[in-house]
Amino acid sequence: MFELRSVTAGYGDHMVLHDVSLRAEQGRITTILGKNGSGKSTLLKAAVGLLPLADGEIVVNDRHITKLSGREAAKMVAYLPQEKTVPSITAGRYVLHGRFPHLGRMQSYSQEDSRIAMEAMEQMGISDLADAPLATLSGGMRQKVYIAMALAKQASVLLMDEPTTYLDIGQQLRLAQLIKRLAERGITVVLVLHDLLYALKISDDIYIMDDGCVIGSGTPEMVLKTNILQKLYDIEICSVDTDGGARYYYK
Ligand code: ADP
Repeated sequence: MFELRSVTAGYGDHMVLHDVSLRAEQGRITTILGKNGSGKSTLLKAAVGLLPLADGEIVVNDRHITKLSGREAAKMVAYLPQEKTVPSITAGRYVLHGRFPHLGRMQSYSQEDSRIAMEAMEQMGISDLADAPLATLSGGMRQKVYIAMALAKQASVLLMDEPTTYLDIGQQLRLAQLIKRLAERGITVVLVLHDLLYALKISDDIYIMDDGCVIGSGTPEMVLKTNILQKLYDIEICSVDTDGGARYYYK
C-alpha cells in the first residue's frame, strides 16, 4: 500500500498541495485525475521525496518513508516522472539502471539484473531496441523504455505520471492490459492520467484533485454517481454494462 496522510507541499514558499490524503491499496490501480495545474504531478513528486513536505506523512507498506534509507525507498517505490532526461546511453543500459537500487556491495550489475532488465523490455515489446541509443528513438519507443526501466525495479509500488504519453492507441491498450496484470500480481499501482475514459476503464479507485486539494474519491462508478468529474470538466459521461464490464463514453 501507499498512503499520503494530510500532505501539504509545494515549491519553496508556494504551497501547491493542501492537506492531501490518498490511500492506494495493494493489488489495485489508483488513478489521480484533475485539470491541468491541479497538482497531480506535484503530488507524485512529493510522494517520492522530490519535494520536501511542509506537513503530513507518506507511508509505504506500513512504513514511514522518512524512516527508510534512500535505497530502501527506491527498491519499494518505482516512479515514472512526466519529464524525463535523455542520457547518451543505449536503451538496454538505461533499463538496466532500473536495477540500481538492488546493486550489492560489488556495485556492478549481475546476470540476474540483466535477465530482469531484458524481461522488462520483453514485457514492453522492445527487446530489439537494447543496443539502440536512447536519443535516436521516437517519443513512443522512448516512453516504452522509460516504463521498462520502472518495471525492472520490481518495486511493490509503481507510480506513473502520464504513462500513455506518445503511445498510439494500440500501445495504450496493451499498456492498460500490462498494468492490470501488474496489479493482479499484487503491485500497488498509482497513475496520473489525463484521458478520463481510459482512467475510468482501467482504475479500481479514483482520486479527483482541484487546486491542490482532493475533492472526491471512490471507485469509477461511485465517482461518476457523485457528478464531481462531470461538473469539473463540464461534460456528460455515460456508462453501459457489457459482458466485458462497464464501458464509458462521452454524451
Ligand atoms: P498537474 O500535474 O495537475 O498539471 P502540477 O503539479 O504540474 O499540476 O502543477 C501544480 C501547480 O504547481 C501549478 O500551479 C504549477 O504552476 C506549479 N508548479 C509545477 N511545477 C513547478 C515548479 N517546478 N516550480 C514552481 N511551481 C511549479
